[in-house]
Amino acid sequence: MTSQVRTIGLLGGMSWESSIEYERRINEGVRAALGGTHSADLVIRSYDFAAIEALQAAGDWDAAGERLAADAANLERAGAEAIVLCTNTMHVVAPAIEAAITVPFLHLADATAAAVVEARVDTVALLGTRYTMEQDFYRARLEARGLEVLVPDEPDRTVVHDVIYDELVQGRVESSSKTAYLGIIERLLARGATGVIAGCTEIELLVGPDDVEVAYFPTTALHAEAAISFALG
Ligand code: GLU
Repeated sequence: MTSQVRTIGLLGGMSWESSIEYERRINEGVRAALGGTHSADLVIRSYDFAAIEALQAAGDWDAAGERLAADAANLERAGAEAIVLCTNTMHVVAPAIEAAITVPFLHLADATAAAVVEARVDTVALLGTRYTMEQDFYRARLEARGLEVLVPDEPDRTVVHDVIYDELVQGRVESSSKTAYLGIIERLLARGATGVIAGCTEIELLVGPDDVEVAYFPTTALHAEAAISFALG
């Protein structure tokens, strides 16, 4: 079988609420470029998120890394020519995944940083899970590009985290939570941020670019764009 598009391996289900957005966007991007009956060529591993979330809550990143790395290698064996990990948070274990594959790993923080730099934003707010906001694996990658990264203070940080796990990954999009997020964004802008990263793949289901007055960086859309570019060579 010959195809004009390169095969992408998606590690998803973290959560599927955003993974289906990746799948839809990548398919739409290939169709927009090639037309006709063209669509993306994908191999997908989608987890029961409860199993992954239990490892996160236990802080067992080594076990999570082993599992994702083994499945990334399986996606490569199944024909994937690049791996896309459809979650910001699990990029904690990006090094383990990269060590297990020989094809490119399209790192989400790199796609995000490139967009922020291109928009000439140098102080950017980062919203995401507690892991993404507090640990270094993501922020350091942005800071290495010369960006200053602001995260919410408490109690806002807990609100951002809890809305993700208690609502968004469970398919609940609540207007009261949108209002809360917009208030949190206002406070980050007052601290000097001139752009906002939706650094969790479900956040753009709650807050879109039209809801925010400054540059907004939706990571699912940006990562899907990177995947489309790779697929089209
Ligand atoms: N999808 C989310 C993210 O982008 C959170 C769920 C997870 O922990 O993987 O960080």
